[in-house]
Amino acid sequence: MKLVIDPGHGGSDSGAVGNGLQEKQVVLQIARRVRDILSAGYVVDILMTRDSDIFIPLSERARMANSFGANYFFSVHINSGGGSGYEDYIYIGVSGTSTAAKKQRQVHAAVVPVLQKYGLKDRGTKQADYAVLRETSMDAILTEAAFIDTTSDAGLLKNPQFIEDISQAYANGIAAVMGLQAKAPAVVYIETGGLGEEGVAEAHRFMMSKGWYGQILYPGGGKTPFLRTGGLTPSMRAEAEAWLKSLGWYYVVKA
Ligand SMILES: [Zn+2]
Repeated sequence: MKLVIDPGHGGSDSGAVGNGLQEKQVVLQIARRVRDILSAGYVVDILMTRDSDIFIPLSERARMANSFGANYFFSVHINSGGGSGYEDYIYIGVSGTSTAAKKQRQVHAAVVPVLQKYGLKDRGTKQADYAVLRETSMDAILTEAAFIDTTSDAGLLKNPQFIEDISQAYANGIAAVMGLQAKAPAVVYIETGGLGEEGVAEAHRFMMSKGWYGQILYPGGGKTPFLRTGGLTPSMRAEAEAWLKSLGWYYVVKA
């Protein structure tokens, strides 16, 4: 499956500005995070219309997506004009029963929990005659997350946890819309270094307490044990790594 992520504006076009923020910077931050989350967890071919602070005309963005043969086009914007909340758009020329509208509802549903968490207003699913929606030949959506010129909304855009949560929601929505296949979980090999059997046993107990797969191995028939775990989802792997780092233990992650 092929996805285009389109961070709005860029270069000489800063997009909306307010409260010390520039739309072009915030949307690039979100778009990159969405790309990284999807790349880590799913089998998907992603094209970014820009991955730096450069200006790309709207029609060029659509042309890139069309020639790439994208299955879905996801445009990331931040709102302005003195309101508050989240909304998303599909092309005004498509019907409410179209696949584009169905996908919009799926993306929107993925975002709702984030709106509830932060008390951000849900402004609904909308339609508009935006160039990137009109000129792309595949289903497309344009998201407008929070108002950069409203102080409370801008506060969220400055909050790294909000950026992470909205990026995760976009990624979840896209994965659902495109029916993306999850990547096989990473297999984590943990080498004990000089810690010996005690350390390995402690690590093994930790794995068991989490309900994770864990196996103590003596490679090459040697006396130095190491622990292998596998089948970890990305969040489980992150937790395991955080735990090992907190102990200062040496480990190697192999996909
Ligand atoms: Zn914009």
